[in-house]
Amino acid sequence: MSLESSDLFGPLTQAEPATRAVPVLVPMPAPVPYSYAVPAGMAVVPGSIVQVPLGPRKVIGVVWDGEDAGKVDAAKLRPIEKLFDSPPLDDAMRRFIDWVAAYTLSPPGLVARMALRTPAAFDPEPMIEGLRYLGHEPDKLTPARRKVLEMAGDGLSWTKSGLAHAAGVSTSVIDGLAKQGVFQTVFLPPPPLVAKPDPDYAPHRLAGAQQDAAEVIVDDIKAGGFSVSLIDGVTGSGKTEVYFEAIAETLKQGRQVLILLPEIALTTAFLERFQDRFGAKPGEWHSDLATKTREKVWRQTATGDIRVVAGARSALFLPFEDLGLIIVDEEHDPAFKQEDRVFYNARDMAVVRAHIAKIPVVLVSATPSVESQVNSYSGRYKRIHLPTRFADAAMPDLHLIDMRRHPPEKSGFLSPLMLRAMAKTLEKKEQSLLFLNRRGYAPLTLCRVCGHRFQCPQCSSWLVEHRFRGQIQCHQCGYAEPTPQACPECGTLDHLVACGPGVERIAEEVEKHFPDARTLVLSSDMGGVKRLRLELEAIAKGEADIIIGTQLVAKGHNFPLMTLVGIVDADIGLANGDPRAAERTFQLLSQVTGRAGRTGLKSHGLLQTYQPQHPVMMAIVSGDASAFYEREITERERAVLPPYGRLVSMIVSADNRMDAETHARQLRMAAPVVSGIAILGPAEAPLALIRGRHRFRLLIHGRKTSDMQGFVRTMLERGPKPVRSIQVQVDVDPQSFL
Ligand code: ADP
Ligand code: ZN
Repeated sequence: MSLESSDLFGPLTQAEPATRAVPVLVPMPAPVPYSYAVPAGMAVVPGSIVQVPLGPRKVIGVVWDGEDAGKVDAAKLRPIEKLFDSPPLDDAMRRFIDWVAAYTLSPPGLVARMALRTPAAFDPEPMIEGLRYLGHEPDKLTPARRKVLEMAGDGLSWTKSGLAHAAGVSTSVIDGLAKQGVFQTVFLPPPPLVAKPDPDYAPHRLAGAQQDAAEVIVDDIKAGGFSVSLIDGVTGSGKTEVYFEAIAETLKQGRQVLILLPEIALTTAFLERFQDRFGAKPGEWHSDLATKTREKVWRQTATGDIRVVAGARSALFLPFEDLGLIIVDEEHDPAFKQEDRVFYNARDMAVVRAHIAKIPVVLVSATPSVESQVNSYSGRYKRIHLPTRFADAAMPDLHLIDMRRHPPEKSGFLSPLMLRAMAKTLEKKEQSLLFLNRRGYAPLTLCRVCGHRFQCPQCSSWLVEHRFRGQIQCHQCGYAEPTPQACPECGTLDHLVACGPGVERIAEEVEKHFPDARTLVLSSDMGGVKRLRLELEAIAKGEADIIIGTQLVAKGHNFPLMTLVGIVDADIGLANGDPRAAERTFQLLSQVTGRAGRTGLKSHGLLQTYQPQHPVMMAIVSGDASAFYEREITERERAVLPPYGRLVSMIVSADNRMDAETHARQLRMAAPVVSGIAILGPAEAPLALIRGRHRFRLLIHGRKTSDMQGFVRTMLERGPKPVRSIQVQVDVDPQSFL
């Protein structure tokens, strides 16, 4: 007797006649979904997550909207192979994916791919084995065994380790009892990753202005529907406390919450604070999670077991069962912009997602982006202002150090005024932070004899010396080589000089002046996330006296003993040609100086600058943020820059310069003529070479009402098709101009 494979495995899908065709969005840069046949008996709906054949591969896709039935003959199509037992992506999520694709000019499949990055999560989590007490006694009843049976006497199901833990015995006691046949084996659903947060667990009593702020948002949540508020409050004013109330209200309504945070991987303190308030941690979402955990978070967000997710920008693409509120903390932060495949700003897309889902979104910052500030001034966003710190914590006393009048000693970078302030802080046993946004020892190394500069062989950037590691490194592509003893150009030994400071060089200077102080360098190249977390905790516990750090230290941490913040080079960000240079510098420096004095100790901020008259410097030391915004807004309006105008950047790159330049020129020539839209370039990008690819930029500038996407689409359609190594990257609302 022979067996058909279908006898063993059930009916083969191929054997069944296909009934209809549906569009399926596959994770590919294709402009539209592909058609697949639905095998009889398979119940797919728009949003269903399925596995389909694609060429020789099997890929995961989503059934999209619209019937393909009339257009194609289902019998001729390849069938869907598998329907996952996972909640379908809901209508709002599908519209969101389409919207993001259209706005960012990305293929919808690549956007959908961001929502489908955890394939193993699409099958239900396996049940776990457990036991239930059957009620009869074992042959021998020891005291340990008695404890177990007392616990298990409730008739409920237990996991082995859970029961052992509850009874305070080792699992071998349970094993012994199991051998005696006192338990029945049962299968339990896997435990949730995090417990349910309780909105009434430990609410704080809000101070007057905080209370008013919270009421405005809570009223919006009660009213339901789409709204945007901007909480604009100085560091330490209690913005987090205020949005915790909004979260509590949403939880009371039985809906889910998404909190977007930049650098979530490093902000363990935030998770603990959330737990103190709500009795449970939020689900965490970022790229440093273990794969298994990511899968669980995806799945349990979809099933609704996780009520609150705190995540990095990609959390915006999680399939919430019933999302009721989005918070975007540090809404101005450049980390919300993704510059890879799909170029999008999670802050802006959060507003879109909230609009589609008809829910409130709350933007939060001590230094809002100019775009959000304009919307709040005009009343499009509700403006919630918290001008002072909570309780007795005062803002740090800020002063500029004019480096022309108080220069550092030769070969140093710290002004005598800075060193004096550090010495005083040390005497009081308090902490100082020196901030410099430059990793490594020195940004440039050259030969004193022939002038040779060390450049990356595949990028147009200098190699940065990292003395701790004995390497020179490229910060664009990661290329590294051992620091040479001799100049490769002229061969002279020991004549290489380091130009300019990095954090390691500042540390050297600090150690020379304060040999007995505990000095710590904190920079993203100094270890993985785990090590950085530990070091941040150590600083919070007062285990370091002087911290030298890059922007890593600027974000959200609470260092109770930190009373001096020194900015080594306040001018650093002002020099480049970025239209947001002033805004970014203002934001970063305000945020860093805001680390000081959060717990009531008298605190100082000192900014070393060669341009003490610069409006950004004046705005920071005067504490007059509104003067800065007014000036910046006037400038933007005059120059028709965002949000008064619109920008799209296009980078054309190729492995040879000629191809990149020619393609960029041809694209420009293919552009339609539209009044109000102008093209700048092509010009060689400031970073002309990255990883061996030559880069040319086109910048498209339009009015607020211009159809930028339509313009770019026409350009790409009419223009030459990228051939050979040529690539075109489109960046709508660019943040980077390099
Ligand atoms: P922000 O988010 O604006 O920087 P936080 O919410 O972190 O401010 O508040 C700063 C500090 O003050 C925190 O340690 C916080 O716990 C405390 N705080 C603020 N408001 C209250 C309040 N109403 N009750 C108790 N503590 C508060
Ligand atoms: Zn490089």
